[in-house]
Amino acid sequence: MSATDPGDHRGIGMTSARTRERLVRRLAAGGIHDATVLERIRMVPRHLFIDEALASRAYEDSALPIGQGQTISQPYIVALMTQALLEGADAGRLEKVLEVGTGCGYQTAVLAPLARQLFTIERIASLQRAARERLTSLGFGNIRFRHGDGCEGWPGQAPFSAILVAAAPAEVPRALLEQLAPGGCLIIPVGPPGQQELLRLTRTAEGIKRECLERVSFVPLLGARTEKP
Ligand code: SAH
Repeated sequence: MSATDPGDHRGIGMTSARTRERLVRRLAAGGIHDATVLERIRMVPRHLFIDEALASRAYEDSALPIGQGQTISQPYIVALMTQALLEGADAGRLEKVLEVGTGCGYQTAVLAPLARQLFTIERIASLQRAARERLTSLGFGNIRFRHGDGCEGWPGQAPFSAILVAAAPAEVPRALLEQLAPGGCLIIPVGPPGQQELLRLTRTAEGIKRECLERVSFVPLLGARTEKP
């Protein structure tokens, strides 16, 4: 466990280690094969990222409401995106990683120990504040938070080894592609509701390589300045 990993925050009953293990096994059976990703799912106390009234459902593999019309992502999707990011990024430890759509901060917590620095942007101020407080109290020390439009990226901190977007634009925001380091990848769901695909776009010497990973369903990315990849 690294210095920035707050530990396992053992739960009881429906939030216990056994309940979490069941989720990990389910994700592994569903095609998540990266041991680092499965270990992060095992370690992050998802029940602390949602309303107490929903805590008994925290280790089900489903999206749950977090207020403001938004949802905490389904664990399978968080695992799939993290795995795609680790496979796509240059070998070795990730330097700077950008996340767009902090939400409650669950994906942020899964990612943080895998990067040297994690930058995360959320457009809804109340969610951003709550995520910041939660992640700080859990002891994460390498995360920087911003309230704003993630479609613009974070120009002052670019380039990024990887960028992960947790909401779906109609088309890929150009600024995010521009802020990828050479060899870096952008993991992003794209398309209208009902027709979204999770893409991995990698900056190579020959240009942007485009891979379709899976059909998905995300909340919309709002305020997008976009362009086709
Ligand atoms: N991984 C998060 C997902 C939250 S849902 C979690 O598990 O909690 C997606 C989030 O993206 C929402 O909180 C929404 O407010 C945010 N979002 C949508 N458009 C955005 C934009 N343009 N910039 C930043 N955040 C945005």
